[in-house]
Amino acid sequence: MKTAILAPVDKEFIVPKIICVGRNYVKHIQEMKAEATTRPLIFLKPSVAIVHPPGPIQLPNYSQDIHHEVEVVLLIGDTAKNIAERDALSVLAGVGVGIDLTARDVQAQAKKGGSPWTAAKAFDDSAPISHFLSTLHFGRLDRMELWLEVNGEIRQRGNTKDMIYGFPEIISYISTVMTLEEGDLIFTGTPDGVAPVHSGDLIRIGLDNQIEAEFIVE
Ligand code: MG
Repeated sequence: MKTAILAPVDKEFIVPKIICVGRNYVKHIQEMKAEATTRPLIFLKPSVAIVHPPGPIQLPNYSQDIHHEVEVVLLIGDTAKNIAERDALSVLAGVGVGIDLTARDVQAQAKKGGSPWTAAKAFDDSAPISHFLSTLHFGRLDRMELWLEVNGEIRQRGNTKDMIYGFPEIISYISTVMTLEEGDLIFTGTPDGVAPVHSGDLIRIGLDNQIEAEFIVE
């Protein structure tokens, strides 16, 4: 199984599963012409979706419209089931940044048919991730800046203050559905500015002047 790296100690975590939150920033919901949800919208990616910098990221050949979605990613350090919001941050091992790569054309078809998003969201290389840092490296977790640029041009810039569901709510809610385990990753939703990526693109992502990562698209 693939791994996530907690720096600067270089501790390696095997990643059992990746849980992603959709529709967590109002402006992204608007650009998708979607509806907000009354509890976090969650879906899964497999461990094989992980790519470490610098890639390369290989895009699936069954889509003509792969979009980048930059997201804050949480690294879980402890088992949690039905954890209360007030205790939820205690299971965090680290925070990083990643890209929820999405086959938008395949997702649009699935939405129309009321089908699952698996082929649109869970393909190999659909989860490029940075290394992780403990929460001590950051100020307020609900005031983190995240950004993504493609070939030197800024495409997405957001702040966790604009999330509908904050990290404690997300962790607590997911733990009512499935047991969180050491090494699990949680993608916490994307701000607006999602756009296509193409073969040959150089993608850079960053979080709070603390983390940067760079990926090549093959
Ligand atoms: Mg997303």
